[in-house]
Amino acid sequence: MFEPKQEQALIVQTIRRFAEKEVRPVASEMEHRNEYPHALVEQMKKLGLFGLNTPEEYGGTPVDSTTFVMIFEELSRAWMGLAGVLGTHLVMCDVLARFGTAEQKRRLLPALATGEKRGGICLSEPNAGSDLQAITTTARRYGEVYRVNGSKMWVTNGRYGDTFLLLAKTNPAAQPAHQGMSAFLIEKGAPGLTVGRDIDKLGYKSVETCELHFDEFPVPAANLIGGVEGAGFKQVMTGLESERINVAARGLGLAQAALEDALRYAQVRVAFGKPICEHQSIQIKLADMATKIEAARLLTYSAAEKRDRGERADLEAGMAKLFATETAAEVSLEAMRILGGNGYSKDFAVERYYRDAPLLLIGGGTNELQRLIIARGLLQKYPSDQGGAR
Ligand SMILES: Cc1cc2nc3c(=O)[nH]c(=O)nc-3n(C[C@H](O)[C@H](O)[C@H](O)COP(=O)(O)OP(=O)(O)OC[C@H]3O[C@@H](n4cnc5c(N)ncnc54)[C@H](O)[C@@H]3O)c2cc1C
Repeated sequence: MFEPKQEQALIVQTIRRFAEKEVRPVASEMEHRNEYPHALVEQMKKLGLFGLNTPEEYGGTPVDSTTFVMIFEELSRAWMGLAGVLGTHLVMCDVLARFGTAEQKRRLLPALATGEKRGGICLSEPNAGSDLQAITTTARRYGEVYRVNGSKMWVTNGRYGDTFLLLAKTNPAAQPAHQGMSAFLIEKGAPGLTVGRDIDKLGYKSVETCELHFDEFPVPAANLIGGVEGAGFKQVMTGLESERINVAARGLGLAQAALEDALRYAQVRVAFGKPICEHQSIQIKLADMATKIEAARLLTYSAAEKRDRGERADLEAGMAKLFATETAAEVSLEAMRILGGNGYSKDFAVERYYRDAPLLLIGGGTNELQRLIIARGLLQKYPSDQGGAR
């Protein structure tokens, strides 16, 4: 079992109190109404959650990756969608803090860290998601301004956010394509950026996911991240490593909530003269659910700890994301079975977990792609020229 340090336990306690008192009681109803959680977002600002990975010198309240996981787990235990408002915001802050110029960081990070500005990431397009090198959005330089043209799809925080990390091609002819890709800081305000429809989703409601259309949208050259063209793909990929860990933590929290609801229900629901938790097949389900969650937790914390040691953790973050989110999907379905008909009813939160979980299989890089990342990492770790077959 993973034991948090004293300081981490205090932070977790604060977030758990907020999640239990303010979030859980309203989560399902708001989600069913597809209502944006403005008041909860205001409270998250006060808790400093928008500055979790911004250095103190820029007004952030940074925590290590392990504490970051704990916070996401606690929030998602109450409402995974609410954690989604923070997720892409923090990926953007991560990329800006790592790769931005000193001027970019000074100009934008303080307002992002307080949540006064809300960030998002514009990577996916109608015809390219997993294969980001196939994007067609372009940014062409005219003096001190780039003009952006193209459409971005699935932008979480697209409507209520105002500052985005955008991946575009500055040299569409480059081979390999990633060498012609650059990352920009997009600030809403100038003409040429339209927020299209909010996509109607199976779950993960209340948090808006939008199409963004760019038509000759002007971006100052000062907003090219790091001030260098051609580095965008690498910058974004580094940000996605942190996203994998936050998505894993969200899966963990969602799965834990489903397990806890199932455990409570199984002890009070009586069938054939005894609580259903005394029927062996229900016990087996509960045991398998809890075991998988614990394994997912250890994988996720282990990936976070590797990052805290300053090491790249692509392989471990990929494994954590894959296992924790598959666990979330499995456990939410098992919880539904344990609740029987009530699991299928909107009177219980389990149906929400069940609808929210599949997003985690897709977002932050699909689990098919995670397997490719894991395999690539393994092949690098065990090259055939060092020992060969035994
Ligand atoms: C609710 C929601 C919110 C999102 N928020 C954002 C956001 O804020 N910003 C953003 O940029 N994007 C966002 N996304 C988009 C998300 O990142 C993509 O949906 C995801 O990367 C998959 O891309 P795709 O949908 O284009 O699927 P595709 O890339 O078309 O993939 C389709 C299927 O093919 C599989 N596949 C593709 N290539 C391979 C391969 N080489 N080997 C094996 N299988 C493969 C995939 O795994 C998948 O099963 C969001 C998505 C959702 C659903």
